[in-house]
Parts: sequence; C-alpha cells; structure tokens
Amino acid sequence: MEAIEVTGLRKTYSGRDAVAGIDLVVARGEIFSLLGPNGAGKTTTVEILEGHRRRTAGDVRVLGEDPGRAGSAWRSRIGIVLQDASDAADLTVREMVRHVGGFYPGARTPDEVIDLVGLTAKRDSRIRTLSGGQRRRVDVALGIVGRPELLFLDEPTTGFDPEARRQFWDLIRTLAGDGTTIVLTTHYLDEAEALADRLAVVADGRIVAEGTPATLGGRAAGQARVAWTEDGARRTEQVADPTGLIRRLLDTGVDLTTLTISRPTLEDVYLDLIGATR
Ligand code: ATP
Repeated sequence: MEAIEVTGLRKTYSGRDAVAGIDLVVARGEIFSLLGPNGAGKTTTVEILEGHRRRTAGDVRVLGEDPGRAGSAWRSRIGIVLQDASDAADLTVREMVRHVGGFYPGARTPDEVIDLVGLTAKRDSRIRTLSGGQRRRVDVALGIVGRPELLFLDEPTTGFDPEARRQFWDLIRTLAGDGTTIVLTTHYLDEAEALADRLAVVADGRIVAEGTPATLGGRAAGQARVAWTEDGARRTEQVADPTGLIRRLLDTGVDLTTLTISRPTLEDVYLDLIGATR
C-alpha cells in the first residue's frame, strides 16, 4: 500500500483555485519533497493531507484513510512539524516533549528524542530561553516523539545554522532508514536535493514537474557547460556531449587543470520550470 494517494485534488477559496487538480503518489518509506514559489498551493495541499483542511474535490488516501474523516488512531500514526509550535512555552524541553509524547501510544522516551534532535545539553532549559534554531529543533522533537509512520515537515530548517542543518539532514535520513515516510516542503533546493528520493514542483496549484533530483525537468539530459582558459582568456561552450570538445582541447594543448564541466543545477532547472509557468 502507498503512504499517500491523491487524485484530482482541488481546493477553492472564494471561487479561486488554490489547488487546481493535483495527482500524487508517495510510496511508503520514501522522502518526498514539494517545491514551489510562495502561494503555489503547497501548504494547502499538505494541510489537506494532514486532515487540517477540507478539500473542494478529489480523492485523498493517507495511510489508507481519508484524512477528512479519519479519527484519532489514524492521527497518532502521523507526525507534523509545525513552524513555531513550541514558541513562548514556559516548560522545559524535556517537560514539553514528555507532555506531547503522552498523547501517543508507543511514543519514544523524551531523552531519546531530545538526543536525536541534538538538544541534550538544553533538555532542562525553558523553551522560551532557547535560540530560534534550538526552538525549531524542539518543533522537530514534538513531530517525531510519537514514532510516526508518516512525517510532514514544513520548511523544517528555517533559521538553522549550517551545522544544525547537516545534523537535521542526518536525522531525517535515520528516520527514513527506519521506514518513516517523509513529506518535506522546503524552499531550499540543496535540502531537497540532499534528502528527497522524489520531488514535485507546484506552481499555480498544479504539479508542473515531478521526478528524482537528478532527472527533474530533463536535468540529466541538460547541456553541459564546458569552460577552460586558452591564451589567458576564459572560454565557455554549451554542448550535449562534452567528449568531442574535450578531445579537441587535448589536441590543441589546452591546460586541462583550467577545465570545468557543469550540468544545470537543481536550482537552474527549478527556476526554468517556474519561469515557464509565468
Ligand atoms: P508559501 O511557500 O508562501 O508557504 P504555499 O505554496 O504554501 O506558499 P498556500 O499557502 O497553499 O501556498 O496558498 C495557495 C493560495 O491559496 C495562495 O494564493 C493563498 O493566498 C491562498 N490561500 C491560502 N489559504 C487561504 C485561506 N484560508 N483563505 C483564502 N485564500 C487562501
């Protein structure tokens, strides 16, 4: 069984489509990332999947149930990392994690979760005394304490320093390695590239491209950009297959230590896709 199956999903606000017909399948154990510009319809889609918004039309199955009708047993199998869920709390990190864990059968122990998110040194600190990035880690802890089968992450690393982001990525990989299905909404393309097995780009309420980070939007087939220095000047050429060009450069005695070959980045492909919908 798939973790998520969506067909023809629509959501209309005051007669305007925020989600205009989305089809989506997320396999169990997969890390799936939703990308797209502000207002594209990502949050609306995810909140419908979480059972927090009603849909206008379409078929939705999440862990085999309709989120619009599912009960508390279904809800306990899902983890949601909200932005700023733990803001301004007067509790300590451990008290908060224990409190939320109490709602789930089979929850992780507070100390296990706190270690997983790298807050061991802060476990007895009050949440309101934590930095912004540390509070986001508390949000993540609250999302995973119930040992969810399916975890929704909405821009989870906003405000993280680079080291914390890398640690967070490792945590997500660990969770996925244990079989957790993960739906990640992010504006960081490097994050999507590092984590996602598959991703979908949403624009104007529709999916405009879907694939793996390596193949999205024809990326793998994109032209290679070859650059080198010749007679003291930097030269570049775009070619489908750089082999012939490199042979020619070899024959002409170009200094190959100046040679670089690059493919379109995920960001290049993403911006092309978004640009094409404008
Ligand atoms: P962001 O990257 O900024 O979070 P998003 O892709 O998550 O954007 P949504 O929040 O899903 O976008 O919004 C999609 C569209 O629906 C936007 O045009 C937004 O203004 C509209 N919208 C969202 N929620 C409501 C609401 N409660 N009432 C009316 N319109 C809404």
